[in-house]
Amino acid sequence: MVFECFQCGECCAHLGLVHSIEKEYGYYRYRIHNKYTNEDTLVTVDPDKHALFDDKTIFEKIPLACPFFRYQPGSDLAFCTVHHTRPEICRDYQCWRLLILNPRGRRVGKIPHIRSLVSDDPLLNRIWEDCVEHHNEPDDRRWEDAMITTLTRAGYTVRR
Ligand code: SF4
Ligand code: SF4
Repeated sequence: MVFECFQCGECCAHLGLVHSIEKEYGYYRYRIHNKYTNEDTLVTVDPDKHALFDDKTIFEKIPLACPFFRYQPGSDLAFCTVHHTRPEICRDYQCWRLLILNPRGRRVGKIPHIRSLVSDDPLLNRIWEDCVEHHNEPDDRRWEDAMITTLTRAGYTVRR
């Protein structure tokens, strides 16, 4: 299964609770400490993201964001400014197995690796309730196929 990140930023927006800057070495090099795993990682701000990293206004709106997380000014596109050297735990992270878009292409739901729906869309929630009853399929891949078929018929687009 290929995971594709859509840079919404939801995952990094609260990771200031987990990641802190332990040490600054200069030339955009830092040591990050992970409070939960106790791991340290040496990171370097990507050369093309210095200006983005230097802009700290994000913390006025999102005070709990990871210290290296930024939004591109004037857009909803999120960036990890240390993408090339980010901690392993960030590299391994995949937030969902199915991403659900409505007919206008707006992201309205996601299904993480456990079989649960994260969505505020009432129709999607109703369909989900029906699917849970009907798609009692033990094989994950076949279950995903069945979900995709049902949601596509209802007018949604599903990415995995
Ligand atoms: S990993 Fe998921 S939650 Fe994080 S930015 Fe990408 S799409 Fe958004
Ligand atoms: S280091 Fe990058 S990927 Fe990891 S939490 Fe911070 S902004 Fe997100």
